[in-house]
Amino acid sequence: MIRFSPPYIDDDIIKEVTSILQSGWLTTGPATKELEMEMALFCNIDHTLAVNSATSGMILMLHWYGIKEGDEVIVPAYTYCATALAVMHVGARPVMVDVGSDFNIDCEKIKEAITERTKAIIAVDFAGWPCDYDGIYSIVNEEDIKKKFRPASDAQHQLGRIMVMDDAAHALGATYKNKPIGSCADITVFSLHAVKNITSAEGGVIAINLPAPFNSEEVYNTLRIWSLNGQTKDAFTKTKAGAWQYDVIYPGFKMNMPDVLAAVALAQFKKYENLLLIERKRVFDFYNNIFSKYDWAICPPYQQSGCASSYHLYPLRIKNGNEEERNKIIEGISGRSVAVNVHFTPLPMLTVFKQAGYKIEDYPASYNLYNNEISLPIYPQLTNDQCKTVTEAVIESVKELRPVKTLLRSILFPVMIMMGGLENATMSDEREIDDEETYSYAEGFVKRKAGRYYRFTA
Ligand SMILES: *Cc1c(COP(=O)(O)O)cnc(C)c1O
Repeated sequence: MIRFSPPYIDDDIIKEVTSILQSGWLTTGPATKELEMEMALFCNIDHTLAVNSATSGMILMLHWYGIKEGDEVIVPAYTYCATALAVMHVGARPVMVDVGSDFNIDCEKIKEAITERTKAIIAVDFAGWPCDYDGIYSIVNEEDIKKKFRPASDAQHQLGRIMVMDDAAHALGATYKNKPIGSCADITVFSLHAVKNITSAEGGVIAINLPAPFNSEEVYNTLRIWSLNGQTKDAFTKTKAGAWQYDVIYPGFKMNMPDVLAAVALAQFKKYENLLLIERKRVFDFYNNIFSKYDWAICPPYQQSGCASSYHLYPLRIKNGNEEERNKIIEGISGRSVAVNVHFTPLPMLTVFKQAGYKIEDYPASYNLYNNEISLPIYPQLTNDQCKTVTEAVIESVKELRPVKTLLRSILFPVMIMMGGLENATMSDEREIDDEETYSYAEGFVKRKAGRYYRFTA
């Protein structure tokens, strides 16, 4: 059985956690601080704040920006529920817009959705592929759109426009136009949930990248207090002799990250850039190399100058597929002991959003991505042999459902050979056949290289 997304846990991680357990300090303290500093360095910014989940991080930041009842926040329809729920938790309305063929929020749709109530846009770097931040910023900075903006909090007055937030739950380590994700939006929120590229079991990190006149240290200090019940001193500081006095200056949340969990993430983070991310790319490239040979496969986006994915998911799509066929292909893959998933069921298809009045009919692009999407396992521990097992399971399952039209092939195949067009013909179906296995034109196989046969379909 090939699992979908097991966490990466090795001896170094266990050692790091054990040392925290033995240190006598479990909750927010030095390890959390170290994680925040490492993350800031990685994102090429001054401050990040660690919290207990990405969901919490988004709620905290929307609240910090003063977003409340009566406000609107633009989100993609194609995302995990937390993106929209965070908006609802501060009392505002998520305005869902459709996505493009790269799964990411469609800038044209953003523009149409902006009203005088719009306070923020949450872009989601789906699967770790960065959104078009230049496109998004050129919209929020347009004079007409800035004029529409109705600031209602100090932070909104200071920024003077719609806030751009990046839900980068998938995108730690991704690059947009040579800049690390974390430094591309005003606020970026990473997730350290168990299935993400780096995990602390549960956790999130807020990257603060606000333009002047914001002072990111001041913003960090405020957020830190707001994430700890509004208390002026955290528990760690209070343990110091004589430091018992504190005040509560804000009705804050309880969203801090404990050191035990920060230690898990820290140990992984030390290996991220030079090992874990590279191994993810290896798996991604392995799949791309195989599936790019099949005309029924649509590989995920990964090529654009200056941009790089974090290879969080491998969202394969089956060309011209539908929901029913996709589900059968998944059954076939599972039957071959490979666990796969679908990312995502568009929000308007989920009960809570349906009940709130959202309709999937309004998001055709999202539906068309969802109905033929299959997320394949992608993580550092996957060996190339396992990757091969995954690709074979997919290819065989597709083949089962889309048997080649034998008659058509048997007629066209000899014709194509006569015309010498074979090299240019679409090699839509490839497999290795034992030497003993016979083949015939009628079956549609042709020998191309020693031991390797290609099935030809017109
Ligand atoms: C996982 C995920 C989240 C939520 O992260 P948590 O840390 O579990 O709160 C938010 N958005 C997207 C796109 C996700 O995939």
